[in-house]
Amino acid sequence: MTISVRLEQACGTFGERSFAILKDRIEQRCGAEVRLAEDRADIVLSVRADLPEDAFAIEDDAPAVRIVGGGPRGLLYGVGKFLRTSRYEGGFTPSEWRGVSVPQGTLRGIYFAMHFHNWYHVASEAEIVRYTEDLALWGVNAVMVIFPAINLTGWDDPEADLAIRRIQTYTKAAKDLGLMVAIGAGNTLFQTTPKNLLAAPLQDPLKRRGNSGFPVCPSNPDGMAAILDMHGRLFEKLSSFAPDLLVFWPYDEGGCACPQCAPWGANGYLRGSRALTDLARRQWPKLQVVLSTWTFDTPPEGEWDGLARSLEHDGGWVDYIMADSHDDFPRYPLDHGVPGGLAMVNFPEISMWGNWPWGGLGAHVLPKRFQRLWDQAKHALAGGFPYSEGIYEDMTKAIIAQFYWDRDRSAGDTLREYAAYEYSPAVVEDVLTVVDLIETTASQAQMNLPVDPADVRKAADLAQAVEARLPEHSRKSWRWEILRIRAIMERERFAGEGWQTPAAEAAMRRLIEIYHSQHDITDSYHHRVRPPLVTGKELVPRL
Ligand SMILES: [Zn+2]
Repeated sequence: MTISVRLEQACGTFGERSFAILKDRIEQRCGAEVRLAEDRADIVLSVRADLPEDAFAIEDDAPAVRIVGGGPRGLLYGVGKFLRTSRYEGGFTPSEWRGVSVPQGTLRGIYFAMHFHNWYHVASEAEIVRYTEDLALWGVNAVMVIFPAINLTGWDDPEADLAIRRIQTYTKAAKDLGLMVAIGAGNTLFQTTPKNLLAAPLQDPLKRRGNSGFPVCPSNPDGMAAILDMHGRLFEKLSSFAPDLLVFWPYDEGGCACPQCAPWGANGYLRGSRALTDLARRQWPKLQVVLSTWTFDTPPEGEWDGLARSLEHDGGWVDYIMADSHDDFPRYPLDHGVPGGLAMVNFPEISMWGNWPWGGLGAHVLPKRFQRLWDQAKHALAGGFPYSEGIYEDMTKAIIAQFYWDRDRSAGDTLREYAAYEYSPAVVEDVLTVVDLIETTASQAQMNLPVDPADVRKAADLAQAVEARLPEHSRKSWRWEILRIRAIMERERFAGEGWQTPAAEAAMRRLIEIYHSQHDITDSYHHRVRPPLVTGKELVPRL
């Protein structure tokens, strides 16, 4: 079978990329050959200025189907919707979805936490490019990365150049698709920062903010100079890969509790972020600023009120307020409005809750949890940046990217589309049952509640039955393997002999391959993101 695609001139060079992605994904899923055609075509790709830039339409153009974007990204999102709603078993059947789709959120991001030798840290460039494409197909329009000073001794640390190159790889992968790039910034510097510049440690009575990294006090003139110097050199090294957004982070890595900086979120943090914004905008005048308020007023100390007062008089330097916590969405911006009347984005923690080691047991998916958290604030949000430690929460990324696209699209609805496309339309309801059982078990484990062994056996049996019905390309895909492995790991853990059984060990060895986890571990944080396999050779701490 041959599928002909006509690429209208209006698509420009980005259109060729959309075509290449369309061709690759269809050919991967069925025996069809997809090729460009000048005249008669089965699929037409086009761009039309009367649509909003990120919007798309899929319409009849008999005998063809026409996928139209408002701009290059809109075309890519239209291709994503077309791919997910087409059918591949027994030959290619083009999507019957018709209509116009306009995203509601303006900043639909993803944060790749590339550290600890997790997948983002060690994946090849080809894998990073492909994964960025996959997320873009779900509607993502911005990728955030950081420079991991916490792991580095200074600019002469050989890992520093590698980290810069890795930022450039992610930046290129995103920009080649027309996506925006965000870089993290704050008051934390290298491991070798002189002690006299260091910030006063946070009290953190509720143990919610952390004291990671090497934060520097911006009220100390030498401290402020060091903060500006490190970021100045960082921006210089990134000069040919201009970021679109700068994201300031207040805590965990960040903060200072000295009297001149307190309360940090309404005082020292704003002075430091403002100075870094001025520095960055000298190089990139159009740079947008996202100011995170993560764990503000934990404990209560007037940070939200102080931020609101500051931005009321002088808010022109910030574009977005980011707000979130470990659990429920912060009440302040919902009850009092967003400081400065700015747009607000969230920061869902999709990697760690109910999951230790992070990704170490396979797929992690919590549709009910993220639906509940989204419903608390969806009316007030313009998007966000989910915090990701790896590819194992891929389903959650799709759910949240679609929340940002259409705030009323349910997690279940997105999961159905995901399961039909990535696995098979025939197994959708069974996959949803497996996911529901896995979420129930993960939630009970997180809250130290008893787990019903019948649940984990049912999930494992059902996953096995689903596997027998999958087409070959789905059965062999990592997206299926990690879900199947999670079901096996939970069965061994709660209804079997634990994680040292042959079934659990085989599952973990496969995960280690999928994640490119390290065997000879010198990174003391790697056990956080590695399957808990202990054979005597690995230096993994026992859990
Ligand atoms: Zn200070």
